[in-house]
Amino acid sequence: MATKKISKKNLSKLIGGWSQKFTVFVPSLENEEATWAEWDGKDTSFLDWYRNTVIPAKANFFLPMEEMFSFQKDGQGYQLELPKLDEGKRLIFGIRPCDAKALAILDMTFKDAYEDPYYLSKRRNTVLVGLGCTNPYDSCFCTSLGSGPSDAANVDLMLTDIGNDFLIEEVTEKGKALLAKASGIEEASGADEARAKEVKEASSKKVTREIDTQEIDKRLLACFEDKDFWEGVAAKCISCGVCTFLCPTCYCFDISDELIKKQGGRFRSWDSCAFSVYTKMPMENPREEKWRRIRQKVCHKYEFYPMNFDVIACTGCGRCIRLCPVNWDITQVLARLPAAV
Ligand code: SF4
Ligand code: SF4
Repeated sequence: MATKKISKKNLSKLIGGWSQKFTVFVPSLENEEATWAEWDGKDTSFLDWYRNTVIPAKANFFLPMEEMFSFQKDGQGYQLELPKLDEGKRLIFGIRPCDAKALAILDMTFKDAYEDPYYLSKRRNTVLVGLGCTNPYDSCFCTSLGSGPSDAANVDLMLTDIGNDFLIEEVTEKGKALLAKASGIEEASGADEARAKEVKEASSKKVTREIDTQEIDKRLLACFEDKDFWEGVAAKCISCGVCTFLCPTCYCFDISDELIKKQGGRFRSWDSCAFSVYTKMPMENPREEKWRRIRQKVCHKYEFYPMNFDVIACTGCGRCIRLCPVNWDITQVLARLPAAV
């Protein structure tokens, strides 16, 4: 993989050049919480405080609420109109490897299993510039899931902080094209690459939380019907849904119609399998009890998604641990699973 570098003092010029062609999103503080926002054209101070965003990058593709179509009733019945899809070119600067991997996991549902035009219009027109994580949280466990704080697998360009400069890896052709006419780019030296290797190794060692994924689907299957086990797991959960809304791989949604007189729209909005009414149907609710909902959340990621797509739908980003109001911890649950049968 070809490597380049850029001095940190030239970074805003580099992003500025990209912003001529792309709408650039960077980490930004909103009500003191880190989220993604359109770059203001100058500020790179996020480099001083950014560890990861609270709102994952999935929100840039799978919107918290989005209109699917509008409708109008006339003498012929309902006339539908599809919204103009957002095909604008975007660049996300600074995405962490865990969240880039989460997008690849979402692609399996929104691109491979069926084609979701709302998600894909944005996903296909976005380039991802990754920023290696040098200060992971103690809730992170990405290294147990085949990734790591410097994993370049799912981005177009990967930046590593090597002191006064960022080393840049050109991961894809799209990434290479981003650098072709960029100003301030220099060739990286052997010493730069060696420094980047040290930084990556040190970052990886900082991820100390671990899970054992060996036969995890079989271990979940072994206790699937164990109500006592799952009731214990679910005991302190208050079904707030925070862990699922903020999980970068969760994609449950609800569909609702808004109607005023004879016109309106159909919207989809984020939903959560943690909510008691999520699976409510006219005749029954198959997950009325909390333990069944918690079981679904864990098994969907570690048993059902691997069954369907051959990949665990958890990146170890740790959000569901550090943002849960009652300190529910998925790694503790996974550590308590019985042996496979
Ligand atoms: S964030 Fe915690 S309390 Fe809220 S639904 Fe998830 S596990 Fe339950
Ligand atoms: S389950 Fe938790 S650790 Fe895994 S991807 Fe979702 S929020 Fe991150």
